[in-house]
Amino acid sequence: MSSLQDRSRHFLWHPCTQMKNLETVPPLAIVRGEGAWLFDDAGNRHVDAISSWWVNLFGHANPRINAAIIDQLAKIEHVILAGCTHEPVVELSERLSKLTGLSHAFFGSDGASATEIALKMSFHYWRNTGQTGKTQFISLQNGYHGETLGALSVTDVALFKDQYAPLLRHSVQMPSPDIRLAEGGESTEAFALRCAEALEDYLRQHAETTAAFILEPLVQGAAGMAMYHPVYLARARELCTKYRVHLIADEIAVGFGRTGTMFACEQAGVKPDFICLSKGITGGYLSLSCVLTTDEVYLAFYADETAKGFLHSHSYTGNPLACRAALAVLDTFEQDKVLENNRLKANQFSQLLDAVKQHRRVKHFRHLGMIWAFDVANAATGFSTRAYQAALKTGVLLRPIGNTVYFMPPYVVGEDEMTKMALTAQIILDEVE
Ligand SMILES: *Cc1c(COP(=O)(O)O)cnc(C)c1O
Repeated sequence: MSSLQDRSRHFLWHPCTQMKNLETVPPLAIVRGEGAWLFDDAGNRHVDAISSWWVNLFGHANPRINAAIIDQLAKIEHVILAGCTHEPVVELSERLSKLTGLSHAFFGSDGASATEIALKMSFHYWRNTGQTGKTQFISLQNGYHGETLGALSVTDVALFKDQYAPLLRHSVQMPSPDIRLAEGGESTEAFALRCAEALEDYLRQHAETTAAFILEPLVQGAAGMAMYHPVYLARARELCTKYRVHLIADEIAVGFGRTGTMFACEQAGVKPDFICLSKGITGGYLSLSCVLTTDEVYLAFYADETAKGFLHSHSYTGNPLACRAALAVLDTFEQDKVLENNRLKANQFSQLLDAVKQHRRVKHFRHLGMIWAFDVANAATGFSTRAYQAALKTGVLLRPIGNTVYFMPPYVVGEDEMTKMALTAQIILDEVE
């Protein structure tokens, strides 16, 4: 084992990891990155096929983002955002507002803090408008919104949640429109509408006590890249409006082009009351999140009394370096026609996956934008670790979720990397039990 791996095991506690497993599966020691590639300390290179946990958009060591951060570094690295303001955070707020159609931006440090902010703001809005009974939240079955206690309360992934159940607030889960759960012969659209009926049944009885419905638009990432028909989102919007419940779109994973449009909500023509953004917002460089909301919500806090304001804060909120990285990301989208080019790339990779799609072990092959996933039949216990190891041998970094193998590459992948990823999928299907 390299000394970096040894030192890591002794002094570091890795996220989402049973540390004892590192005895047999040591961490990859990464020394540098370039574009879609990661280089380890043994001199091997690996395609970052999961965008470093869904955060990277334009590759590692991206020249434009590097330059923006270096330029900002010589000006101001950080300043308190209560009582101070600065150009990068103002420009970012203006541009995100234009892109989302939501007029006020509140910044947090990471995805989970964005979820906390949206939940607290929703509750506080109803309180400020005299509806103190609206104290509950609903979310989708198998949904994921982060792992701090408030966010975990609306998350529904047993592996992350069950141990902490006694610490969590009660929340109620609505049936997920995940296409894998549709019954034989039922179209994905009909299934989505059936799930929306269950949502309405719930709201009809509980709207008085429900502050908000939080969901991941179109793709439930942590559920195993579960995808669903956009009609569900459109119906959820209608129902939330009808029953006066906020709709919180958690676009932390799907925002910034991941599903083929800038934001996933656009595909259903839906404007949420709150949108949560993080992950790709800085191109995967620095930790930053943002919750945008409407004039209506904002104005309910605008008052002479201090306590009516949103008295929430994180020390690094609106960090100038992170904001500059985010501005470079938005520049890249505009100047490089990213969404258009991604469509061509996606077609190419989908074609390369044709044989995989037909493989006898593949169930529920699915694709949206720059996400591809399939479930593997006859996968024995420990499949995800063995698939990860098999992929690594071929020079591809994957992180299967249970028996789901997915690809979520940075938008800078080229034909060589895509060919390599397709080959890796084939090897996993042929060789990993
Ligand atoms: C990753 C993720 C989060 C949490 O973000 P962190 O930065 O890891 O706290 C929340 N919601 C969704 C949909 C995510 O994918």
